[in-house]
Amino acid sequence: MSTGTEQSKAWFERAKAAIPGGVNSPVRAFNSVGGTPRFMVRGEGPHLWDADGNRYVDLVSSWGPMILGHAHPAVVEAARRAATSGLSFGTPTIGEVELAEEIIGRVAPVERVRLVNSGTEATMSAIRLARGFTGRSKIVKFAGCYHGHVDALLAQAGSGVATLGLPTSPGVTGAQAADTLVLPYNDLDAVRKSFLDNPGEIAAVITEAAAGNMGAVAPEAGFNEGLREIAHEHGALLVMDEVMTGFRVSRAGWFGLEGVAGDLYTFGKVMSGGLPAAAFGGRADVMAKLAPGGPVYQAGTLSGNPVAVATGLATLRAADHAVYAALDANAKRLGNLFRAALGEAGVAHHVQYAGNLVSVFFGETPVRDYAGAQASETWRFPPFFHALLDGGVYAPPSAYEAWFVNAAMDEEAFQVIEAALPAAARAAAGAVQ
Ligand code: PLP
Repeated sequence: MSTGTEQSKAWFERAKAAIPGGVNSPVRAFNSVGGTPRFMVRGEGPHLWDADGNRYVDLVSSWGPMILGHAHPAVVEAARRAATSGLSFGTPTIGEVELAEEIIGRVAPVERVRLVNSGTEATMSAIRLARGFTGRSKIVKFAGCYHGHVDALLAQAGSGVATLGLPTSPGVTGAQAADTLVLPYNDLDAVRKSFLDNPGEIAAVITEAAAGNMGAVAPEAGFNEGLREIAHEHGALLVMDEVMTGFRVSRAGWFGLEGVAGDLYTFGKVMSGGLPAAAFGGRADVMAKLAPGGPVYQAGTLSGNPVAVATGLATLRAADHAVYAALDANAKRLGNLFRAALGEAGVAHHVQYAGNLVSVFFGETPVRDYAGAQASETWRFPPFFHALLDGGVYAPPSAYEAWFVNAAMDEEAFQVIEAALPAAARAAAGAVQ
């Protein structure tokens, strides 16, 4: 199916001379799967086209935002209209209010929202606010959860940090790391102990509402509820990071599926429509501490950018019941195809879901935390990935990432996936450690 990779190869060489590693976000570089990253030039519906003219069924969806598929007409039209009215004003705009209201209308515990430019900024601001509100320093996070590249949150992080096998990052100071307590995911006893060992010092627990950055690992029944109880018992806040799950796994994100209220929330990806926009929000009394009303400073030249707000709003407005039903059905169908092909090839595996986030872990044991994800047979992933790529399917280039379906996937897209999977499953079966 491939028409070659000459153009991508040439552009990657050129990119490496201008951009560190040739990419602007590490996991794009294919380091853990090998080979040449594809330079994409166009997206439409469920498909991407690379610089060599290859077409792929896209199961990354820009790492989450593109729930409607690429170049959705309503979103493109919203961007066009907003852009022709001016790109940035540095003043309040009507669209910002409408987007904040849309988010508040969907996620009940969110009473106030502040717009920012990336998920990283959202989590960074949320933990600053939690510290400012409580007057405490320490933050509890979970191994394998990724909250962006915030200094204090990089320790044992998922996503690209896991993909590259980095324990933590140089450049993060000892003081920043010392204020971060890293615990195993899905382990409430560890959380209880941590609060007892650090009395009056923990400002917040931050968790992915459902983990997607070590692969899809849903919280076990009672885990998020337990976090809320323990945090509140000790005067700390619960920060639900819904950058990945928000407005994807249901119209109200993971909160819509589980109903456990956080004190603060972080959002990004889907609510941006694919342009740089993100948000944090939550309880009105906590959010009231933000400048200009309160003393906790937070700001942004391009925050609430009119074009990004327009694409975010257009995406959320188009994301109706039918879209969420399609996302769920497509995730289920994808998982069933994995099971059929890998079963046929005799590869031990677990298809895991967190809502409509999907992952396939190779090995006998289901994964409930980061240690489990690391213990899975990740060495089977590169040949699996490359066989899919050769068959016209663009999967996330890392064993530690969730797969993101979109609502534009049609019969033909699934036929391409179904046709590519047997060779991929055989490649995984033949992989050597
Ligand atoms: N939080 C979660 C759960 C994420 O998945 C991500 C990115 O993947 C982030 C935060 C950081 O978002 P951004 O990449 O927009 O900075």
